[in-house]
Amino acid sequence: MAKKTSARCMMCGASDSKSAPIVEVFDGLTLCTDCIDYIDRARDAAVKKTAEAAPKETHEKSEIPTPHEIKAYLDQYVIGQEEAKKYLSVAVYNHYKRIDQEAARDKNAPKSALKAAIAENADEVEIEKSNIIMVGPTGTGKTLLAKSIARLLDVPFAVVDATVLTEAGYVGEDIESLLTRLLQNCDYDVERAEKGIVFIDEIDKIARKSDNPSITRDVSGEGVQQGLLKLLEGSTVLVPPNGGRKHPEQKLIAVDTKNILFICGGAFDGIERKIASRLNTHSVGYGKDEAMKKQQRGNLMRYVLPQDLKSFGLIPEIIGRLPVLTALNPLDRDALLRILTEPKNALTRQYKKLFKIDGVDLEFTQDALEAIVDKAIEYKLGARGLRSIVETVMVDAMYDVPSMDVKTFTVTADYVKEKLSQANFDKVKLAD
Ligand code: ADP
Repeated sequence: MAKKTSARCMMCGASDSKSAPIVEVFDGLTLCTDCIDYIDRARDAAVKKTAEAAPKETHEKSEIPTPHEIKAYLDQYVIGQEEAKKYLSVAVYNHYKRIDQEAARDKNAPKSALKAAIAENADEVEIEKSNIIMVGPTGTGKTLLAKSIARLLDVPFAVVDATVLTEAGYVGEDIESLLTRLLQNCDYDVERAEKGIVFIDEIDKIARKSDNPSITRDVSGEGVQQGLLKLLEGSTVLVPPNGGRKHPEQKLIAVDTKNILFICGGAFDGIERKIASRLNTHSVGYGKDEAMKKQQRGNLMRYVLPQDLKSFGLIPEIIGRLPVLTALNPLDRDALLRILTEPKNALTRQYKKLFKIDGVDLEFTQDALEAIVDKAIEYKLGARGLRSIVETVMVDAMYDVPSMDVKTFTVTADYVKEKLSQANFDKVKLAD
């Protein structure tokens, strides 16, 4: 704490006065209050200037993580889906290298060995954008993967649903409104948004209904796909700041989509049949052995190729703009069990943390976890349903335990079954 002295100000030399008394700031340093004010203002101005000069919070602030690092990060949050994680890691790494290549063309000041190498190659080959499409049943981690990548890179991220574009038929939302959420999520910082990631869910819902456009041409689906093309390939589009449909008086925001990474996801229900028939065609005669049959019965999704997306009803131009195609596996019992406990923010960990705050150690027995998973499988809820089930099981404990004098609370299989039957789980709605 500064104390008053009778010395002179060591900065301006003034002696003690009523309007500007001299204060010993510390260790014999005496200043008048005018000079102290001045120093405070100078410091505030310097802090502000440094903050303004600092690079914006984007992936640029650090080196781009390598595909291995990206995958290792995803492993902490997403169980299984090894192939999808690998494809995504490579695609994302290349995408941000590509952005850096463009940046290197603009400023010739590489900051690191990687950036120097990128700059050196900048004028030779132009790397094209690699948007991604993930095919797989609902609740298998498509959104989670995209969200986790955005978190790792610290770039703006938005999940949008392709169905809003068509659900109201020709009065569906304008395609550009897909970018509204992205802008909102970074407080309309256009520069940041232009390097963000957009996850377009349910892309399969805008497929045209027939592979043969001349017979049953589904104009709405194809129209929406055509519209989407210009976003995917990269162009400057005018985005309504609050979404919905554009109207003449509205001020629109220009966004260049060239460096926005689009990750599309869809369940593509029934695409297995297209894959199966393609595989059959190739295996007519000799190839149609037991192994092939088994393969077909198993998870066919992993054999998905761009032509299957075409058979499903995506137009070739869209497929061409989504060059990275990867499939997600359905989650089996073992994966669901792991999802309950292993990810960094696994459900059971979250509940343990909640109880720990009340000083209670929460435990789940192995058979309790299995009972939860069995219920999720029984109701075909997959990973998406785990949350609702655990919430239903835990609600009484969360209500009672804070008023009880206990240090531990163990959830057993019997407890799980009892709570689910009491809650009449059939009526419980899905969370997330
Ligand atoms: P999708 O986009 O494929 O329909 P989501 O990524 O939205 O599915 O998954 C829904 C929820 O299920 C996630 O928030 C997560 O809690 C859980 N989940 C799904 N798949 C996985 C997975 N592979 N690993 C960990 N959690 C998962």
